[in-house]
Formats: sequence, structure tokens, C-alpha cells
Amino acid sequence: MLSHYLCEYAWLPDGIHADVLIAIENGKIVRAEPAGWVDDHIAKLSGLTVPGFANAHSHAFHRALRGRTHMGRGSFWTWREQMYQVADRLDPDSYHRLARAVYAEMALAGVTCVGEFHYLHHAPGGKPYANPNAMGEALVAAAAEAGIRITLLDTVYLQASVDGQPLAGPQLRFGDGSLDGWWNRFDQLSAQPHSMIGAALHSVRAVPTDVMTDFAELTGGLPTHAHVAEQVDEVAACRAAYGCTPTELLDRHGVLQETFTSVHATHLTKGDIDLMADTYACFCPTTERDLGDGIGPARTLADGAVRLTLGSDSHAVIDLLEEARAVELHERLSAQARGHFTQAELLTAATATGHASLGWPSAGRLAVGARADLVTVSLGTVRTAGIDPAGVLMAAGAADITHVVVDGRVVVADGRHVSIDVARELQEAVCALF
Ligand SMILES: [Zn+2]
Repeated sequence: MLSHYLCEYAWLPDGIHADVLIAIENGKIVRAEPAGWVDDHIAKLSGLTVPGFANAHSHAFHRALRGRTHMGRGSFWTWREQMYQVADRLDPDSYHRLARAVYAEMALAGVTCVGEFHYLHHAPGGKPYANPNAMGEALVAAAAEAGIRITLLDTVYLQASVDGQPLAGPQLRFGDGSLDGWWNRFDQLSAQPHSMIGAALHSVRAVPTDVMTDFAELTGGLPTHAHVAEQVDEVAACRAAYGCTPTELLDRHGVLQETFTSVHATHLTKGDIDLMADTYACFCPTTERDLGDGIGPARTLADGAVRLTLGSDSHAVIDLLEEARAVELHERLSAQARGHFTQAELLTAATATGHASLGWPSAGRLAVGARADLVTVSLGTVRTAGIDPAGVLMAAGAADITHVVVDGRVVVADGRHVSIDVARELQEAVCALF
């Protein structure tokens, strides 16, 4: 079925144009160009329409910690203890309810595909559920109900620290015992039309080196992600155990392939950045500042042919517009100078590059042949009224998004999710855990 939209403004691959006609057939864009004459019956999208956002790094259950863990002192490590307490309370039903609401919140924020870095695999104590992928499948079903695509990055998590301490307490839920155990479970996952299966290595803390090469070979060609160099202590522990940085360690074992994403990539050496060329780096600036991680070298990475993507990670904030501008603004704080990224570079990180890193290279552009993911940002709210549309990434937030189309289907209209009462479901799902 053919449908049409007339966009007041649209961000096409060569820049912003007014009065753009977008035609969609079978979930794909078949026309995207400034319109000449159009008839009055075509649906109008008032504001600036951009491609759908990819949220390349998510742990859906962390959303339950929002507004509960940001006060007072502490560190990444003390926050992690609070996160583990929530992890211990989830089962496949409650995780499905929570993730459905979280992914619907993402849809409202213009996210059309999420990369879910999933490690909460088993029941408390580590016993597999009758269906060993019950938790992962709950996430995939939640994304379908929320109307977005998902790449389930099923995660290997085998030990508690670089020196090989065994998993304990809530971490027991994350482990499959061995790489073979992980692979046997992973191999039973299958993709659906809205989903893709990718892999993740949790971190150099959580996976022993003697299985990294096998992991790289098993997962070759798949979207593969790992937390890399988020914390100074993590880098120091890696150096003490292996005499090298996390990036060097992953490179030695063949993990740094073209489909690989380093999540965070905050504390890097020049040598790390050279090794990362032609891979992806996912920045999660709102989480990194919340946890006091530091500011990663975004511009240096981009100059070194590392492809930048964005994620909301712990979901203290779910707003890809905020993540995009934070990459530029954090760079300004660290460099004490302005103007490091063009608006087009930031938008590309939030869209085409993010989707590609999740295994959906045909998404993230308003161009013929691309997946029909459309996000319309109002230019008439108190935040956006009077702005130059080209400055939208520096002015707008998720609350300014009025219309979202995913694979040609309307998911958000007039600022509301078409099938989910998102605030109510978030309230119920989160409060049930406390
Ligand atoms: Zn993470």
C-alpha cells in the first residue's frame, strides 16, 4: 500500500529542504524529494522530519533506577550495587512489562531501533528458565508491542573480575558457565521481521581471555558489542592482569572487526584509537556524566575513521537529541573551544551509523530504498519556536517529537503512542519492583 507525507521541512541526505514529499510502500521509502504540486489530501507533517533514531546501547531494566540513584556521592561501582538489586527482582513477565513501557518511551523519543545489550539471562541463583531464552524473548516481544525494531545483543558474562573471580549473588543470573554454554543458548535464538540477533562480550572484566578468540570466530559478521574503557579502574585492572589496554586485549583476540562496537570508549590511548579504525564507538553521554565516567575523545575517534553511534544506556535520560548535542557540548568542555562536529555528523551518528552498527544498514536516511523511519520534530513548541530548523539538534528534546513512523507504520501521532499509555505503564512496571 502506498502512503504519502508532505513534510514542512525534511532532512534529506544533502541537507534540509522545505515542502518535501515522502512516499512509502511496503515499509520502504519510494520517493523523497522537494514537492512541486501536491494535492490537499496528503497527510502533512508540520515541523522538521528527520530519519528514525537508533538507540545503539540500552539496558532496558536500568530505567527502573531513574530518579532513584543520582543523588548523593558514590561511583559507578556503588551505582552498580543498586542496579544489581533491581536485576535480582525481574522475571520474564515483569521484565516484559517494564521493557514494553521503556521501548514505548523510546518510540516517543523518536527511537525506531534499539540495541539491547542483554545479560540478565537466568533465574535468581543462575538456574536457567524452562525456556533458557525466556528473558531475551520477553525483550523482543516488548519491542514488537512498542512498535520498534530491536537488535538483541545477547551477552557473554562468565566471571566477576579480570583476575577470574567467579560470579556471585545477582551476577549468577548473567552467566552461562562457559562459552559453549552461552553458544548453546544463543544458537536457539532466532530473528523475527522486527528483530535481529547480535552478540556482546560484556567487558574485559567479565570474559576470560582464553575464550575471546573463539567468541570472535563464532560471532564473525554479526553486530558485536562490548563495554570498553568506561572506567579508569577497569583500564588499570586490565593493564595489571594482561599488560595492555582493554582495546589492545580485544584486538589481540580478533574481536575488533568491522561489525564491532566499543561502548563508551572513554579512556583510550592513541594506540587504542589507531586499532579502532573502521569499527564503531557508541557514546552514551548522559549516562557517562551521570556515572562520573569521564569524557571520551569523540572528535579524535571520528578523525581516526571510527564510526560514532549513540545510546541512552542506563536511561537516566531517553532523548537521542540530547545525546547528540552532548557529544558536541562535552567536547567543548574538554577542549575549551566550540564547534567540533557539524550538525550533519551528529545526526548521522544518531541515525544511519547507529542503525548500521545494529545490523540495519538500510535504515537511517530519508532516501529512496531506505526503511521508512520518520521522526517529526515540532518547530512550534516553547523550546523550538523561532529556531532555524538547521539548529534543531541544539534546541529540541524528546518532548518536541510529535510523529514517529517505523517501517512505514505510524507508532506515535500528535505526541502520543498509538497503542500504549506510556507514563501509566512505566509507573506500574517500575513501582512493582520497589
Ligand atoms: Zn552498558
